[in-house]
Formats: sequence, C-alpha cells, structure tokens
Amino acid sequence: MSYEKFDIKKMAEALQKGSVMMAVHCESCGAPLFRHKDGRIECVNCGRLYRLTPGTGSVEELPPLEYLKEDAVSLLRDVEKLLLNTRDELKLRSIVEALKKLRDELGTG
Ligand SMILES: [Zn+2]
Repeated sequence: MSYEKFDIKKMAEALQKGSVMMAVHCESCGAPLFRHKDGRIECVNCGRLYRLTPGTGSVEELPPLEYLKEDAVSLLRDVEKLLLNTRDELKLRSIVEALKKLRDELGTG
C-alpha cells in the first residue's frame, strides 16, 4: 500500500505521542486508524472518529451525536475538577446559576 496520499506528518506525530497504528483502515480515506492513549480511535488523516464494534475485531465510525456526547461528558469532568479546586465564592455562585440553567435546558429538550 502506498502512504503517499496520507498526511504522514500527522501520523508520525500520533506515533510520537504514543498512539498505536491499527491494522484497520478509515472507511472514508483509507488511511490506517490510530488508537490514542486515552482510548479514542481516530483517522488522523481526515479526523473521523471510530469505536470498536462490540464482539468483533472491527470498527465503526462514531456517529456525530455520540462524539458530541463524549466531548460534553469529558468537558463536564474537567469542569468538576476545576470546581472542586475553586475557592472563589462569587465565581462559584455564578457557576451554580449557569449550571442550573444548563440542567433546565437539557431537562426540557
Ligand atoms: Zn480517514
């Protein structure tokens, strides 16, 4: 297989960061997929995200909704960590109000 058409620089960067090149390829562009240290499976060539299909050795593209949910949950975990370390009462009050609004918005959505 020729790798000329792929973004070799991005693939090299992924390897340097400890990501592993997988034996499966992107359905869209044909580049080999990379498994990052945090478990995400990505085509670093075109940016599509994949997940392992349970019970098989194959992968499937992550639907945008799932990808967005994962992103949102990961952001919430970051927010939780930052909140627990905050000692600014005023800031906390405004964050609590913002979180209540967010919760209400999701609850009615
Ligand atoms: Zn791709």
